[in-house]
Amino acid sequence: MAIEAAILEQIKKFKTIIIHRHQRPDPDCIGAQLALRDILRASFPEKAIYAVGKHYPGFDWMGQADQDVSDDVYQDALVIVVDTANQPRVDDERWQTGAKVIKIDHHPNEDAFGDLQWVLDQASSTSEIIYDWFAVNQTDLVMPDDAARLLYAGIVGDTGRFMYPATSANTMAVAGKLMTYDFSATTVNQAEDEVSPAVAKLSAYVYQNLTILPSGAAYLKLSDEVVEPFGLGTGDSTSAVVPLPGKITTVVAWAIFVESKDHTYRIRLRSKGPSINGLAKAHGGGGHALASGASAKDQAEIDQVIHELDELVANDKGENE
Ligand code: AMP
Repeated sequence: MAIEAAILEQIKKFKTIIIHRHQRPDPDCIGAQLALRDILRASFPEKAIYAVGKHYPGFDWMGQADQDVSDDVYQDALVIVVDTANQPRVDDERWQTGAKVIKIDHHPNEDAFGDLQWVLDQASSTSEIIYDWFAVNQTDLVMPDDAARLLYAGIVGDTGRFMYPATSANTMAVAGKLMTYDFSATTVNQAEDEVSPAVAKLSAYVYQNLTILPSGAAYLKLSDEVVEPFGLGTGDSTSAVVPLPGKITTVVAWAIFVESKDHTYRIRLRSKGPSINGLAKAHGGGGHALASGASAKDQAEIDQVIHELDELVANDKGENE
């Protein structure tokens, strides 16, 4: 049986379905999660369908997860984890207490968890995969307009407005089909493109202070001391500035080091050339070939990552071109 049909078969078997996403959510994981919830609610009104995860007010324009799911609901429930490569990254540990787990994702499948998995690491986004799943099973499923909006928002988010290389002909075809539903694509595009005045000022800081090495490797440290004066609001995050160095012609790959509460550094790695997920893995992280994350315990590890990134870019053989 094809995986698309196998997933639908499992969904039909369970009365309760709980959908999880990853910690520190982004538009793709929220879009895929809430759209899947809304598709299933519209298609199977007799079932109890939930989406769970910590509330982030900055994403209220997309919709909200269900905050009132009690532990006992997990008994006999099917759990679907979307857009999450590794088990420790799943938001809400209760995902392990369901009767069965399905993983649907587009990251390299290095932590192959779940009773059933559908992982397409070439897909632009999990939202694109959810649309493809809907399309194959259309006779059994209903797509509400708002679910189409959410999937469109997820694709826009993970493709960097259809710009990153994972954007395929299928991605554009899916986006086109989604746009036939009743929602404003322009409103979604604006919501994902706009930044607050505080983030705009932080963006200026990034451009002013980015170090660009002769190889094309670039880096910037965003310590608490640097970020605090910008007065980022509750809906703001340093995430918005991570893609910015890629706009500079001489930058090939870059690292942004963001100080965490425990004073270690979260490393955000991006590339327009060589794969950087090996580097991320060597520092306790992982991710896609061109977008990865890891962590650095101190300045010595930050210096080491900069050195490794510099070497990686200097020795680039153009494998991702
Ligand atoms: P980020 O810079 O957090 O947006 O992450 C970029 C990509 O790298 C995401 O798709 C994540 O799946 C992955 N990633 C980030 N941090 C980690 C981590 N600590 N471990 C594994 N993968 C990560």
